[in-house]
Amino acid sequence: MKPNVTSLNTTEIKKLNIEGVESKPLSFSMETPLREDAFALDDEIKIELIAKHFKEIMQILGLDLNDDSLSGTPNRVAKMYVTEMFKGLNPENVPSVKLFDNKYHYKNMLIEKNISFHSVCEHHFVPIIGKAHVAYIPNEKVVGLSKLNRIVRYFAQRPQVQERMTIQITNMLKESLHSEDVAVIIEADHMCVAMRGVQDTSSSTITSEFSGKFIDAKTREELMRFIAMDAK
Ligand SMILES: [Zn+2]
Repeated sequence: MKPNVTSLNTTEIKKLNIEGVESKPLSFSMETPLREDAFALDDEIKIELIAKHFKEIMQILGLDLNDDSLSGTPNRVAKMYVTEMFKGLNPENVPSVKLFDNKYHYKNMLIEKNISFHSVCEHHFVPIIGKAHVAYIPNEKVVGLSKLNRIVRYFAQRPQVQERMTIQITNMLKESLHSEDVAVIIEADHMCVAMRGVQDTSSSTITSEFSGKFIDAKTREELMRFIAMDAK
């Protein structure tokens, strides 16, 4: 049950383990490391607290928060974190995946390629910008195409590492489609490589997860050929 967070003082919020020092992981390594109390605070309180702390970061950097160009930034950033960029942390926002009967008895692979997404690298909190190619071979059921986009976006909207995101998307597809025959390929640019550190702006990172029939070399080759093919 959620505590009435609006009435919590700082000490009580600390008790909720917001500092995350002795946190107990909620899930296994394949899942995003979240604490058990990850959703004890509602979104409004989260926005309020993040804005407060972001304001402090800006102040420490020496920025003048009285400037009307900057004064709204803490709240804007906090709102963007909770309601957009990190919306996919909350299981309440998981897309519902409605299945339809495979009336045509379509038995070949279906590929949706170039699904664009934006995520955030969990090591540096800067953007990961990329595209995902998703494929599956239907059994008795098929899924609406836009659901594939929504599943990609759901896992992108959280602090991520590309390898884990690839596996998370694959697992959710397998579960929702009741099919083992799923493949996910992700190609992405990491701003933490481009903007800082080695500052390489031309490299990109590719990850893949092949399951079921896609483990077979011929099926995989066919998939790669379709992905490489020019759409128009
Ligand atoms: Zn990074």
